Amino acid sequence: MATDVKIAARTIAPTNPATGEVLRQFECAGEAEVFGAVERARLARAGWTELGLRNRIAVLREFQARLFARKSEIAAAITREAGKPLVESLVTEVLVVLDAARFLIDNAFGLLRDEPVPHANLVTKLKNGSLLREPHGVIGIISPWNYPFSIPATETLAALVAGNAVVLKPSELTPLVALELDSLLHAAGVPEDVFQVIVGEGPAGAALLKSPIDKLVFTGSVTTGKRIAAAAAERLLPVVLELGGKDPMLVLDDADLDVASSAAVWGAFVNAGQACLSVERCYVQNSLYESFARACADKTARLRVGNGMDSHTDVGPMIQERQVRIVESHVEDARARGARVLVGGKRLPELGPNFYAPTVLADVTHDMRIMREETFGPVLPVMPFEQDDEAVQLANDSEYGLAASVWTREPKRGERMARRIHAGTVMVNDVVSCFGISEAPHGGVKASGVGRTHGRFGLDEMVRVKYLDSDRVPGMKKLWWHGYGESFRRQMEGFLDMQFARSLGTRMRGALRAAGIVRRKQL
Ligand code: NAD
Repeated sequence: MATDVKIAARTIAPTNPATGEVLRQFECAGEAEVFGAVERARLARAGWTELGLRNRIAVLREFQARLFARKSEIAAAITREAGKPLVESLVTEVLVVLDAARFLIDNAFGLLRDEPVPHANLVTKLKNGSLLREPHGVIGIISPWNYPFSIPATETLAALVAGNAVVLKPSELTPLVALELDSLLHAAGVPEDVFQVIVGEGPAGAALLKSPIDKLVFTGSVTTGKRIAAAAAERLLPVVLELGGKDPMLVLDDADLDVASSAAVWGAFVNAGQACLSVERCYVQNSLYESFARACADKTARLRVGNGMDSHTDVGPMIQERQVRIVESHVEDARARGARVLVGGKRLPELGPNFYAPTVLADVTHDMRIMREETFGPVLPVMPFEQDDEAVQLANDSEYGLAASVWTREPKRGERMARRIHAGTVMVNDVVSCFGISEAPHGGVKASGVGRTHGRFGLDEMVRVKYLDSDRVPGMKKLWWHGYGESFRRQMEGFLDMQFARSLGTRMRGALRAAGIVRRKQL
């Protein structure tokens, strides 16, 4: 006898990480809902593409104006759900998106319009070539919680302006911020079905991957990224993978100690260290090492830790208990193997459920977890080195390759080292801010990912390049068609000599031999 078992849909409850307050409850989208959203997006996409690039740019302009008008409200929504200080919500989220919109408004037309391809080969001179950039169709976006607004928004704007529809699956920890993006885009004129948000956990993301999307842009951990890549390979789905990092900071002996130590502290503790680009490893040349570590510890001790809603807060809570436990285990491993805790190294339960004290560790070594695994929390481990070559070797001794930085008063020395570091971005005398440079591509090498978002290369990911070849003499048979023979072979040999021989004499004799080609009888 069949039993009538009703399986309750899973629910998620985003909470304020500073207080533990539940902000709202959602039922997770099931596979049918995900497939339904993608089907509606497919149907709506044609109209959006046909609207034309200029009109889509106008919608982006309207989006930008509406976001600007609501900047403080959106920043507060980000802080409430993700915990980061209000000023970081404004600068690293809202400002980044306003500027990404500016970049696309100014450049999308030039970057997406048809591009003539001149032919240099004599044989193909009578053809016009052009590159067309066509939207993929429906782009699926799966995003993390750490930059819940700027990551999905920058990717979405590029996808939409190129003429795609988008189905976004945000992190289960930060769906409310994604719904703010949803309301801003729809108010600006993006049709309901052209941009949709599906709320859910991993299984909703997995369903999106199974659905008939045309491309997936994923940002998240290496573990999930590998699962996504394997599933995508099954159906040859193109993917962009923006994954984790373990970014090194190299402080050379001629660096400005005060500036570099402030950079290390900001780079390690911005968003409580929960940034893919945060400083996760710091290497300092011997002569500066002790004073640098001490300066970092002093500055870290002066940071104000608390609820991000308080404008004076420098460092907010971590996103959730699980993340705090990872940080705790990395610090304990380092401590047990001989690292010195200069400041921090403990939870701060008196502030709320997810607070961990900003921590500076000295005398770490490369066999500690803190130097090998992504910590994704407020810890700055500092290690000495002697020679520049050793610093490059330490920087490259990682499975990751997202970004890196070099600190020196001599930019040329820094640039020389930057060229030897395996990473998607290397900054000389700055950290993290590359994410906010809308012109710059963002992405990694090695386990940090595949493909790029942001800027020109990010826009390229949102289109398929089609090559259009149009012959200018439709009534003429092509020289290389059938009707071969010994004389044609000799003529073609002459033709090759005419174009590629080194000596002028051979080129001229080749031209004479090739001249008969035009009178050749063809099928
Ligand atoms: P995560 O991999 O746990 O989750 C990311 C997203 O994937 C979430 O929306 C999640 O629901 C979804 N997901 C989980 N399992 C899935 C599955 N099987 N199929 C499809 N989707 C699935 O990552 P996270 O904890 O949200 O984010 C932190 C990680 O993201 C860190 O490793 C960080 O370095 C990385 N990150 C990278 C960048 C970058 O640009 N390279 C930017 C931000 C964060």
